[in-house]
Amino acid sequence: EALNKLLDIKGSIRVFCRIRPFLSHERKKSFGPIVSGSEKVLIGSTGNRKEYILDRVFTQDASQDLVFMEVEPILRSALDGHNVCIFAYGQTGTGKTFTMEGTAECPGIVPQALELLFHQASLDESISFSFGLSMLEVYMGNLRDLLAQKTPRKRWESLSRSVLNIQTDADGSVEIERLHEVTVTDFAQANKLYNLGRRARSTSWTNVNELSSRSHCLTRISIGRTGSREGGKMATSKLWMVDLGGSERLLKTQATGQTLDEGKSINLSLSALGDVICALKRKRNHIPYRNSKLTQILRDSVGDRSKALMLVHLSPREDDIGESICSLSFAKRAR
Ligand code: ADP
Ligand code: MG
Repeated sequence: EALNKLLDIKGSIRVFCRIRPFLSHERKKSFGPIVSGSEKVLIGSTGNRKEYILDRVFTQDASQDLVFMEVEPILRSALDGHNVCIFAYGQTGTGKTFTMEGTAECPGIVPQALELLFHQASLDESISFSFGLSMLEVYMGNLRDLLAQKTPRKRWESLSRSVLNIQTDADGSVEIERLHEVTVTDFAQANKLYNLGRRARSTSWTNVNELSSRSHCLTRISIGRTGSREGGKMATSKLWMVDLGGSERLLKTQATGQTLDEGKSINLSLSALGDVICALKRKRNHIPYRNSKLTQILRDSVGDRSKALMLVHLSPREDDIGESICSLSFAKRAR
């Protein structure tokens, strides 16, 4: 176990890549990303081909269960007392929401994580666990509670900037004022609540196409653990699962006005997240958490004493190669 502890480097970030399958209407002929082995992605035409190494690459036929198997160890360390963040990154339409939420037939990481946590908690009788679920959406620097009762079905612009405030305690722990945290006692209850939160996210958007691509969706599971190791006191940890806003660049989409502002805001917070991860990796003294709401919220969960997993999503399409290269560059910088 001592050796395991030595090998278990905290503050580390692992970077996985998942390529989504072609959708039924897409032409399958493609010079998109090519997977080589289980850790390498090749992209671009011969002669101008770039190569990226990741911790794990999932090909188009990777099932939700296979992805979850590789995510499981980091979830277990959340139960063990570490703060953990799992991010889905990528261009809109590459499968971030599919990976995190999934469908009823193919549940994604969040519902599977909920199931795993309750299952694990039931196995060890010497430790008593408690779980709390919170969900929020971050859009253009505004925060919205997805589990609040009577969530207004309005568009974001009408919401005041101070809906929720982020507080950082002297010990560095982050609290979001007035954010609901619902105590959940079994998987069925937790999953039902999670589905309500998912629905609250989509009803605030007027157009299905813009659904979820313009905001970050954060699901937090607060874990309390009381056992002999804690000497009767309760130790707490946080597990964040984040479906990030689309990473696509603005020029290509010819965005104007509102769309442009939204895109800028997403790009800003994604680059702020990249800067934080990069500064942590280089062991810099100053970690620029303050540059976005996203990094302020995750301040105590992305850092020296926590673990992070970045799931970078790619399109299989040749037309998306430019975006795929950008996403892989983000991955390379993070890793
Ligand atoms: P994003 O959240 O990144 O915008 P979505 O998760 O909405 O992307 O995925 C876009 C479409 O592709 C959806 O119809 C989704 O069901 C489908 N899709 C994405 N990834 C997969 C996958 N691994 N297997 C099957 N369908 C997928
Ligand atoms: Mg999505």
